[in-house]
Amino acid sequence: MSGGGGQVGGGRDAGAFGPWLGSMLAVLRDQPGATVDVPCDGCTACCESSQFVLVEPDEHAARSMIPAELLFPAPGAPEGYSVLPYDEHGRCPMLGSSGCLIYEHRPRTCRAYDCRVLAAAGVDPGPEKPAIGRRVAEWTFRVDGAEDEVALSAVRSAAVFLEEHGDELPAGTPPPTQLAAMALEVHDLFTGGPPAEPSEVIVELGRRLR
Ligand code: SF4
Repeated sequence: MSGGGGQVGGGRDAGAFGPWLGSMLAVLRDQPGATVDVPCDGCTACCESSQFVLVEPDEHAARSMIPAELLFPAPGAPEGYSVLPYDEHGRCPMLGSSGCLIYEHRPRTCRAYDCRVLAAAGVDPGPEKPAIGRRVAEWTFRVDGAEDEVALSAVRSAAVFLEEHGDELPAGTPPPTQLAAMALEVHDLFTGGPPAEPSEVIVELGRRLR
């Protein structure tokens, strides 16, 4: 990276970092109308990586498309929340030979999923999700200017901090994708680099991530 712009990543175009960060934060914050257009290009790694898909009670269109026998009560969630499980090969049961069978009505969890959060935060999805790991390693963000450089560096610092101090958070260290999403959410606390007083940051993180 340089002050005038540059790229970071492994060769597959992930788009311009600054605009993507803004859109992704809006999605993570559930702002009305917020979307991210993920250039999946036929990749279905996230649909075949042994991930449970949460289906919320108000997702009537998705629920109408998913056979009732495939929806199970979501553990630890209030009544009405369901999960779509995966098969013995780690595949979502709604994944067909040419992609998601209910793409237009896929659950909110799928709409909000963007594996570029892992690439942005420099977080490895783990050895049990090799297909996602390969895709994450490919993404290349365009970094346009000093502001984007600072933001990207802050996201990375936040991720490192969360990996090192996650067990001090009220809910403990989150799994990789949630950790990367958290790093985006709290990156503004890290624009000056690693914090001088980690305990103060832990308190602030606990407050924000409640
Ligand atoms: S519902 Fe569709 S998009 Fe979501 S995990 Fe299943 S196949 Fe993928």
